[in-house]
Amino acid sequence: MKKAEIVEARKPLKLSEAAVPKAPKDGAVVKLLYSGICHSDIHQIDNGFDVGGRFTCLTDNPLYQFPIVPGHEMAGVVHSLGSNAGSAEVKVGDRVAVFPWIGCNKCGYCNNGYTQFCKEKHHTMGFGAVPGGYSNYTTVVHHKFLVKVPASMPLSIATMLPCSGITTYNAVTTALPAIQKATTFKGKASMLIIGAGGLGLWALQIAKSVLPTTTNIVVADISEGKLGNAKDRGADATVAWEPSKSEEQIIKDTSQLGNDDGYDAIIDFVNTGVTSTRAFECLNTDGLQVCVGLFGGAASFPLPVVALSEKGMKGVYVGRLQQLKDLFALVEKNKLTPPPLVYYKLEEINSALDLLRVGKINGRGIIKHEGANEDA
Ligand SMILES: [Zn+2]
Ligand SMILES: [Zn+2]
Repeated sequence: MKKAEIVEARKPLKLSEAAVPKAPKDGAVVKLLYSGICHSDIHQIDNGFDVGGRFTCLTDNPLYQFPIVPGHEMAGVVHSLGSNAGSAEVKVGDRVAVFPWIGCNKCGYCNNGYTQFCKEKHHTMGFGAVPGGYSNYTTVVHHKFLVKVPASMPLSIATMLPCSGITTYNAVTTALPAIQKATTFKGKASMLIIGAGGLGLWALQIAKSVLPTTTNIVVADISEGKLGNAKDRGADATVAWEPSKSEEQIIKDTSQLGNDDGYDAIIDFVNTGVTSTRAFECLNTDGLQVCVGLFGGAASFPLPVVALSEKGMKGVYVGRLQQLKDLFALVEKNKLTPPPLVYYKLEEINSALDLLRVGKINGRGIIKHEGANEDA
């Protein structure tokens, strides 16, 4: 099999041949057919990110060392099961997606289904010690982290659900109570989605499925092309955050498209100092700002305004295994349309990452492995 590894920070990934792995006793080996390319893979290649004036270096953690096979959006067929996995819900040959946010399986977070908050981050697939999806085959430590893919759903869509899908599902459901409350109080609520890339387009689809149907959903982005995708997928309005406009003008133009000159919930998939400040300014009284993006930086907010208007802020980081199962059911039931997909061979991964780095993939980049024939 082929795999692509980060061997050195900020350098192209190295492609090499390797033996197909053996299944661990409780787990499985999955022959991957599609693997998503996520922006957080770039943070790994860069070996960290800007956390507001300083750089967090990932390999400062002794358990997080190169070489790393990145990739945490994985779908394919079960190739083999371990000796203790005979009772698994999945069988060899089943079409599955992999839940990558695996923890120690012992702590309070793991025992309550919040494995993404486990302090032992090095169990997560595609980060640090556990190889991920930039490989033709992958090893999953326990069969419970495999989710069966409905027969009518292409694996090219299923592969996106464990990261971009689950993150946006978590973000929208986190915003849901604020939208429901505003709908009760005012008859109609409004949501702003910042960023019309892969995550923003999923969020738009999911928001239209789970929020009250009266909700006014507006999408902001700097790219007119990406805003066109949002319009095609049912955004009530879009707003171009053109770099030539003043901050004051951008905030005014954006607020006017909301209800009560603002938004009851805002999901920020960019989440820089600039975008989060704009979001805060556009947030209604009692509104909720959901921070998702990892583009980096810092922001400051006028604290009396936070108190007086009871504006809230909540971070969202990927999601739980149960949320992934719920999301599969939702995507299947409502036939949600994925973002535009752009396919690459594993051998083309370095040029795909170069394009992703400069925001030049219009939609979601996906590795299409040998034998894959389920393009959406
Ligand atoms: Zn991701
Ligand atoms: Zn744990």
